Order: sequence, then C-alpha cells, then structure tokens
Amino acid sequence: MNTTPILYLLMGLLFGTTLLAAGIALRSWMGKRLASPGIGQSLLEQQQMVAALRNMASWTNDFAGDFTRYQSTMESLTRDAADNKKVQTKEEVKRLLDRIVDANSHLQTRLESAEEKLEMQTKQLAGYLTEARTDGLTGLANRKAFDQKMDECFAKWQQIKHPFTLALIDIDHFKKVNDTYGHPAGDAVLKEISVRIRELTSQSMLVARYGGEEFAIIFDGEVQHAADVMEGLRQTIASKSIVAEGHTISITISSGVARIMSDERIGKLVRRSDEALYSAKIGGRNRVFVHNGVLCESFGGLGNGTVVVKSGDAIATEIPPTSNELEHRVLARLDRLISQEATLKE
Ligand code: GH3
Ligand code: MG
Ligand code: MG
Repeated sequence: MNTTPILYLLMGLLFGTTLLAAGIALRSWMGKRLASPGIGQSLLEQQQMVAALRNMASWTNDFAGDFTRYQSTMESLTRDAADNKKVQTKEEVKRLLDRIVDANSHLQTRLESAEEKLEMQTKQLAGYLTEARTDGLTGLANRKAFDQKMDECFAKWQQIKHPFTLALIDIDHFKKVNDTYGHPAGDAVLKEISVRIRELTSQSMLVARYGGEEFAIIFDGEVQHAADVMEGLRQTIASKSIVAEGHTISITISSGVARIMSDERIGKLVRRSDEALYSAKIGGRNRVFVHNGVLCESFGGLGNGTVVVKSGDAIATEIPPTSNELEHRVLARLDRLISQEATLKE
C-alpha cells in the first residue's frame, strides 16, 4: 500500500496538535495570571483581558472544528487508498493524491492564519499586562507591581534566606517646584528623575513609583551595594539640574535604605526603610541613610554620621529640629506606637 497518505496525515496531525497545544498552554497561563492577586484588578483591565481570552477561545474552537474535519477527510482517504477496488489505475492514484494535497493545503492556510491570530492575541494580552503594572506618568513599575515583587523576594528570603534590600526615595521640597514653576513642570521633573533613577539603578530588581514624588527600588542582596548605588544616584541628581518647561531646576533627593532581617515581615522592612528616609530628611535632606536594624546612620559624602532614629523609638538628634520637623517627628512616633499596638492585637 502507498504510505504517502499516512505520512501526510501524520504531518498534519503533528502540526495541528502543536499549534493547538500552544494555544491551550497560553490560555491556561493567562488564566493563572488573571487569577493571581494584584494583576488586572481594575474593572477595565479585567474586561479587556476577558475579551481577549474569549476571542482566543473562539478561534481555537473554530480551528479545532476545522482540524476534526481534516482528520475525517484524511481517514476516509486512507480507507480509499487501502481499498484496492477503488484505486486500481494510475489516474485513480493521482486523483487520491490530489485530494490529499488539497486537504493539506486547506489545513496549511488555516494553520497560518491561526498562527497569526495567536501571535496577535499574545501581543495584545502582553500589552494589557504591562499596562496594568506600569505607572502612567513615568513608565516605571507601579505600586501593584512593587507589592508583587516584594512578595516574591520575601518568599525567596523565607525559603533559602536569600537577602534583598529596599531603598525608598523622596524628592526634596517638591511642593516648592510645583508652586514655583507649575504642575506641568513638576510632572516633567518627575519624568526626568525617573529616567535618571532607571539609568543608574539598572542592576536592581525593580524600580517603582511608590507614591506622588516617592520611588522604591528593590535590590538583590546586601545593603552596602544598594546604599552605594543610592549615594551615586543622589550625587548625580544633585549635580545636574533639570530643564523642565523652559526652567532650569535644581533637584535633590533623600533616600532611606534597609535590608530584610531575620524574623521580619515585609511591613516592618518598609517601615525601617521609611524611618531611614525620614532620618535623611531631618538630617538635612540630599542624603542617604541606612537602617542597620537598630539605628539609622548617614551613608556616604554629605552625612555627618549622626544617628537620628533608633528603631521603634525616635530618639533625640544632635541636629536641632525645626518646629515643623518636631511636629512631623511626634506624628511619626504616634504612628509607630499605633502600628505596634495593632501588631500586638494581631
Ligand atoms: P519634603 O522634602 O519634606 O519631601 O517636601 P515635599 O515638598 O517634597 O513634600 P510634600 O509631601 O509636602 O509635597 C509633595 C508634593 O508632591 C505635593 C504634591 O502636589 C506633589 N506631587 C505629588 N504627585 C505629583 C504629580 O504626579 N505631579 C506633580 N507635578 N506633583 C505631584
Ligand atoms: Mg513625599
Ligand atoms: Mg518630598
């Protein structure tokens, strides 16, 4: 018996099954992404993704129908080929082969268009996912993406004790920038600062816009490396003014850095980084401070080594506070007491 039809059938089967498997795997992957917390939470994002998934499901089903038809055509052709009564002359063999080639070329066309659709849908879905995790103004990761990365890092820390370090940045006196040059200029400054942060911390695991004029960077590993990078960033930003909306604006940043510690949860790490940032502010701004688990200390050039805040307890500093800062410090102390109280109640 002529084995060519069987060969065609097998090739068609392999080709079709591979594409279908790719579609199904993609659908299941997307399903998991949709189910994971923090992704596609807004109604619009969810609706967009569900619509894209529906499209994908619908053409996969269409294609599956086509493929079933192809399979039965090939089965009938194979039966005909095996039936010696039906295929006796050269012409009959040629006709049989022509029908096989026709069926294959039809399937080929469907496969090509299915492949194109699959590629298009994948790009569309990837776009939705990126949008859902990106800050609109700066293009950096947003708070949602930050929370998710922190969870990942924390899980790795719990499993294999692989450390990570969090650096928070706050632009100094940013309200004054808005008040003096206008909100659009403020926006332009935020964008330019984001570009510089991204350029100078490219080795970090994630750079996020944490809030209005605050940024968060997650570093793999120890505090020393992260603090070095932050000090370099601080110096670069302070030394090169930004041109925004026709104004030349000098900007400085303050930063607080802390590494995850034993028996510590994410909330506590964020609190310690925030304490270090706050210390950098009351230490004079344009500074990097590190929380070493007990104390906040200045790091690098501008700091005077003064220990400003003791963990969980705002102690006196040698730098005389202004009344505004005193009020801020009392509020921060109250904040910590309330959160300690809440932790005890848990
Ligand atoms: P400090 O050195 O203590 O951080 O002083 P600050 O003025 O930077 O801090 P404050 O919290 O008083 O003010 C932050 C300002 O950031 C106020 C707010 O209008 C501005 N801001 C927050 N988000 C945006 C934004 O997206 N665009 C613009 N232009 N301004 C923003
Ligand atoms: Mg702020
Ligand atoms: Mg600020």
